[in-house]
Amino acid sequence: ARAWHLVRRPEGWPVPEDFALREIPLTAPAEGSVLVRNLHFSVDPYMRGRMNDAKSYVPPYRLDQPMDGGAVGEVVASAAEGFAVGDTVLHPLGWRDYAEVPAAQATKVDPSLAPLSAYLGVLGMVGLTAYAGLLEVGSFKPGDTVFVSGAAGAVGSQVGQIARLKGAARVVGSAGSAEKVRQLTEEYGFDAAFNYKDGPVAEQLKKAAPEGIDLYFDNVGGEHLEAALSSFNVFGRAVICGMISVYNTTEPTPAPRNLTQIIGKRLRLQGLLVSDHKALQPQFVQEVSAWIRSGELTYREQVYQGVENGVEAFLGMLRGENSGKALVTLG
Ligand code: NDP
Repeated sequence: ARAWHLVRRPEGWPVPEDFALREIPLTAPAEGSVLVRNLHFSVDPYMRGRMNDAKSYVPPYRLDQPMDGGAVGEVVASAAEGFAVGDTVLHPLGWRDYAEVPAAQATKVDPSLAPLSAYLGVLGMVGLTAYAGLLEVGSFKPGDTVFVSGAAGAVGSQVGQIARLKGAARVVGSAGSAEKVRQLTEEYGFDAAFNYKDGPVAEQLKKAAPEGIDLYFDNVGGEHLEAALSSFNVFGRAVICGMISVYNTTEPTPAPRNLTQIIGKRLRLQGLLVSDHKALQPQFVQEVSAWIRSGELTYREQVYQGVENGVEAFLGMLRGENSGKALVTLG
C-alpha cells in the first residue's frame, strides 16, 4: 500500500518536496480493526495548519508518518464485529490507498442514499460546517442579507444556498475567478457575486450589497473581514469559519484595520469549530439530503485521480483550482 508522508514542514506555500508517497506494509487487520480500500479521500484547508509544528485544535502531522484526513472506502477484510467485507465506511485515515481502521473510528455509510464522495463534502464535515455555522453560530434569520467569502468552495457554496433556501433577503458571494462568479449566480442562486481579484473588496461589496449586510460567513479573513466590518448593519454577526488568505503567510498580516466599528454597530464575531456541532448531524443530513433530492441544492466536486495526485490536489485547492469539494478518487 502507499501513503503520503510529510517529510519537511512547509515555510509559507507548501511545495511538492515537502511530501513523499511511500510504501507502507499491508497486513491482515488486527483484532477489532478492518482493512479498507479507500475509494475517495479529502484534501482540506485545515490540513495546511497541521503541517506546522504549532499547538492548535488538531495535533500537527508528524514528520515521516502517514498523513491522515477524511476518507471513504470499502471493507476488504474484517476482524471487527459488526463490519463485513463489502461494507462502505467513512473514516479518518485518508492520504493513502489502503488503511487499517479501528472499528471505533469507522462509520458505516449507505451508498444507496448518496454517492460515497458526498460523505466527504455536501453531506459530510464540510456540509455540517456550512449548516451549523450559518444557522447555529451565525443565528441566521429570514430577511438577513448574507455575505459569504470563498463562496464557490465546498463550504461557501453550501452556505449561500442554505441561506437562500431559508429565506435570506439577499445573498452575496465573492470568489477568485470570473467562472466561479458565474457559477455563484447561475448555478447556486446567489443574488450578486464578485471576483475579489478585480478590485478592492470593500468597494465591490458595497456595490453588491448597497443596503449593508447582516451576517458574514468568513472563509478568508484579511481584507474580506475588513470589508465585511465596514458593510455591516447594526447588530451584524460574523461567523469566523476560516481565514485561508493567511494560512501560507510568513509575516503577520495588517488587516482588518477597522475593528472600532464593532463598538458602534454592536457586532458579534464568533469562531466556529464544526466538531462542536455533532448533535446537529441528523437534522442536517435529513434537511440537506431532501434539498439535494428535490434539486433545490446542488454541489460540485473537483476530482483528482489516483493516490499519486494527492499532493497536487491539495496544492491545487490552496491555489483555488477547485470549484466545490476538492477530493482524490482512487482506483
Ligand atoms: P474550499 O473548497 O473553499 O477551497 C479553498 C478555496 O479558498 C479555494 O478554492 C480558493 O478559491 C480560496 N482561496 C485560496 N486562497 C485565497 C485567498 N488568499 N483569498 C481568498 N480566497 C482564497 O475549501 P473548504 O470549503 O473546505 O473550506 C473553506 C474554509 O472553511 C477554509 O478557510 C477552511 O479552513 C474553513 N473550514 C473551517 C471549519 C471549521 O470547523 N472551522 C471546517 C471546514 C472548513 P478562490 O478561487 O475563490 O480564491
